[in-house]
Amino acid sequence: MKIINKITKLNRPCFSFEFFPPKTDEGDIKLFKVVQELQNLNPDFVSVTYGAGGSTREKTFSICEKIQKEFNIVTMSHYTCVGSGREDIKENLNKLSKIGIENIIALRGDPPKDTGKFQKHEKGFLNATELIKFIREEGFEFGIAAGCYPEKHPDSPTPEQDVENLKKKIDSGTDFLLTQLFFENSKFYTFINLAKKNGINIPIIPGIMPITSFSQIQRFKDLANCSIPDVLIQKLDKVKENPDEFKKISLDFTVNQCKDLLQNDVFGIHLYTLNQSNATLEILKLIK
Ligand SMILES: Cc1cc2nc3c(=O)[nH]c(=O)nc-3n(C[C@H](O)[C@H](O)[C@H](O)COP(=O)(O)OP(=O)(O)OC[C@H]3O[C@@H](n4cnc5c(N)ncnc54)[C@H](O)[C@@H]3O)c2cc1C
Repeated sequence: MKIINKITKLNRPCFSFEFFPPKTDEGDIKLFKVVQELQNLNPDFVSVTYGAGGSTREKTFSICEKIQKEFNIVTMSHYTCVGSGREDIKENLNKLSKIGIENIIALRGDPPKDTGKFQKHEKGFLNATELIKFIREEGFEFGIAAGCYPEKHPDSPTPEQDVENLKKKIDSGTDFLLTQLFFENSKFYTFINLAKKNGINIPIIPGIMPITSFSQIQRFKDLANCSIPDVLIQKLDKVKENPDEFKKISLDFTVNQCKDLLQNDVFGIHLYTLNQSNATLEILKLIK
C-alpha cells in the first residue's frame, strides 16, 4: 500500500518510526525485538535508513522486506543516489520492487566525509529532484517521500532558495515530506509558512529525535545541522551523570515538543527510534 494513500485517509495525525540497519548479528536480534514491541502501537508505517554512500544497501533492503512481510507493517526504504549511476539505481529500485517494497524516501545523500562538496556520479544525479524525476520517468510505481530541512539544507545559501528547490523536488513527483530532525518548533513553523507561500501543499511530517544521552546531542547537532535550545543543553548538562533525572528531563522535552506540534495540527509525527523501544513507547503513551 502506498503510504500517501493510507495517511491521507486517516482522521487523525499519522505516527511512524524510523530504524537503522545494525552492524552486528546481536544488533539484528535486538532490532527485531524492538520492532515486535513497537508493533503493538500500530504505526502507520516505518522506515529503514540507508547507510552513508549506500554502504548498507543489501541490509536495508532485507530489513525492509522482513519487517513488511513478517510484522505486516508498511515499510519504506530510504534510498540515496550518491555514488551511483542510472543503471545501478534502476537495478536497486527493481530489487526493491521485487521484494514488495512500495514506498521509498528518495534522497541525494551526502558526499564521503571530508571530501567537501557533493559530486554528481558521471552517469547519475545532482540532487534528489533529478532522482525523483528519473524514478517517475522510468515508470516505477513507488510511493515517493523526500527530505526537507526546517533549518535549511547546509548547501543552500538561504531558506528561501532551499524552499524554492524543494518546490522543484515536489513538482518532480514527491508524495509527502519528512523533515530533518529539529528541536525548536518555532523553526519548523517558520519553515511551514515559507513552504505554503511557495505553493507547497503536500503533507509535511516532522521527524522527532528523542534525546537518550548527552553525547548524542552534540553528535546530532553537528550531523543534522540543527539548533538546540541553550536552556535544554544547560538542564541536561547538570544531570548528565544522573540517568533517572536525565531521562525525565529529556522525555519531558520530547513529549512537550510533540504535544505542541500536534496542537498546531501537524500531519503526523515520525519518531527516530534509534533502534530502541523504551523512549518511543513512553512518548507515544503520553501524546497519542
Ligand atoms: C528525512 C531524512 C532522511 C534521511 N535519510 C538518510 C539516509 O537514510 N541515508 C543517508 O545517507 N542520508 C539520509 N539523509 C540525509 C540526506 O542524504 C542529506 O541531508 C543530503 O545532504 C541531502 O539529501 P536530499 O535528498 O535532501 O537532497 P536534495 O533535495 O537534493 O538537496 C540537496 C541540495 O540541493 C538543492 N536542490 C534540490 N533540488 C534542486 C534543484 N532542482 N535545483 C537546484 N538545487 C536543488 C537543495 O536545496 C539542497 O541545497 C536523510 C535526510 C532526511 C531529511
